[in-house]
This record gives sequence, C-alpha cells and structure tokens, in this order.
Amino acid sequence: MTAPEILVLGSVNRDLIVHAPRLPLPGETLRGQRFGSCLGGKGANQSVAAARLGARVALAARVGLRENGAAMVEQLKGEGVDTSAVAQPADEVPGVALIVVGAEDAENQIVTVAGSNGTLPLAQIEALELTGLRWLVAQQELPLESIARAFERARALGVRTLLNAAPYRPGCEALLPLVDVLVVNALEAQALVTTLGGGAAGPESLAQALRAKGPAAVLVSLGAQGLCWVDADGVRLVSARPVKAVDTVGAGDTLVGALVTALAEGQSIAEALGFAQAAAALAVSRTGVQDAMPHRGEVEQLLG
Ligand code: ADP
Repeated sequence: MTAPEILVLGSVNRDLIVHAPRLPLPGETLRGQRFGSCLGGKGANQSVAAARLGARVALAARVGLRENGAAMVEQLKGEGVDTSAVAQPADEVPGVALIVVGAEDAENQIVTVAGSNGTLPLAQIEALELTGLRWLVAQQELPLESIARAFERARALGVRTLLNAAPYRPGCEALLPLVDVLVVNALEAQALVTTLGGGAAGPESLAQALRAKGPAAVLVSLGAQGLCWVDADGVRLVSARPVKAVDTVGAGDTLVGALVTALAEGQSIAEALGFAQAAAALAVSRTGVQDAMPHRGEVEQLLG
C-alpha cells in the first residue's frame, strides 16, 4: 500500500444494537424485535469515511483481541484503511457501545465501555510514523494526553492537525493551541466556549471565540442548517444539501472524513466545504453509520 497522507487517531468500537418496542425500565426484561452489530467508534468511522472517498488513510488505535477484536481490524482493512498502527493487545477487550433503540427510532439508550480505547499508552504515540503525512485527525474518545502528544509531534514535523472535539470532555480546551482546524457541532462549540468563560452565542460568535484560542480555522456544524466556517479570510455560511434525512447518527463523522480528504487533496476551502456537505447529506439520507457513508463516485455525481 502507498504511504498514507492522513492518519486518524481514534477509537474503534463494536456497536451492539437491539430494537425494542420501547426502552426497558430498571429491572425489566423486554422482548426485542431485531439485533445487529457493526463496527463503530469515531476513529473507525472517520477513517472509513475518508477511505471510501479515495483518501490514503491510516488509523492509529488500540483494538483488544478478546471478544473477536481481530475481525474488527480485518473489516477496517477491507475498507482500505491502513491498520499497521492499530495495536492489538491479546489480553484486552475492544471498546463496545450497547445501544437499545425504542419504537420507531424515537428514543435510544446507549452505554459505552472504552475497553482497549481507554488504555492507549503514550509509548504508542511516540512510536507513530508521522513523517510524510499531510493531516493528523483526532476525536475525543481516547485519553486527551495521548491526543495532545500526537498533535505536538505532528506540528513539529509540519503535519497539520484537525481536532473533532466530540464528544465534549472537560479539559479538552487545553488542546486548542495545538489545533489547525477545529470541527465541532453547535452543542460542542457552546460547551467549549462556556468552559472558556464565554456566554451563550450564535455559531459565528462561537467559532470566532474558539478561533481566538489557537485554531487557524473553526467549523461549527449545524445539522440540517449546514455549517459555519471561520478562518483568517472571514466567515462562510454553507447551507446543507436539501435531502430527506432518515438517520443523522454519524453525520459529523462523515463530514470530518470528507473534509480532511478534500483538504489533503488541495481542494480550495469552498470546494472542500461543498464536498463535505455533499458527503454528509448522502450519509443522512440512508440508515446506519458506516453503512450509510458514501463512496467517491456518489459524491461527485451529487456535486455534478
Ligand atoms: P453531528 O453529527 O456531529 O452532531 P451535525 O448534526 O451538525 O453533526 O451534522 C453534520 C453535517 O451533516 C451537517 O453539517 C450537514 O452537512 C449534514 N446534516 C446533518 N443533518 C442534516 C439534514 N437533516 N439534512 C441535510 N444534511 C444534514
């Protein structure tokens, strides 16, 4: 495989999903209608999104081999993700998300266990091959100190950093000075700004406030409204593509994977934002997370 241009540092989970007539009460046993399992975790999702869109992408992660973790790594390889930086400790259990979906997808209940995602050691970060990369991407399902160290190393080598500050975690504001592009949804943006001492504000002001803490560019995603991008050239508001949304879970992961793919290719900011919006729109128009992520040709067709 040719050398990767994007490295995603992130979590890998197995999502175990049951559909039930409603959510169970404490102590109650319910008879559900359906069960399925799929590969998830933000690191896995974003690397698969980028690979489907044609990026040369590697994943740095930790997937324990108990509970059939090896099959999760094989699935990533099958998607074209370079897994040579995925540590596979024999005696650890992979991350898991246990998801109960109530009637007609109206409500859900999720318990996650970090498993091997929670133990990503600094030694693994120090050993990462970063030379030659264009972008390092991380989200916040791994220890924050591991992300900070990886970003420090990347920047020293001239590799640009993209942080998707999701899920929001206290203390993540300390990463901002190490970030070139910050991607957050409106809730995460507000949580970060509140932590930094700011008040409630609209997306543009939130993005400006976050940009003042270090990132050269901040993208606040706005669901069906699209996104707000702020950089040294000013503010861009980009509308979402009008689609019938059937499942918006994982929209942000598709957005991040597509954005970094476009930026790594050298697309202009305007083109990259349009590309990312098109990819995210396709993802929300179908059910599932990775199942819904588009391939390159579909995005190009939508863009005309
Ligand atoms: P997250 O999944 O991180 O909460 P958002 O809900 O902001 O992120 O969605 C990310 C992107 O997905 C949006 O910028 C938009 O491009 C797309 N998107 C989300 N919901 C819709 C929708 N209902 N219609 C069209 N596009 C959508």
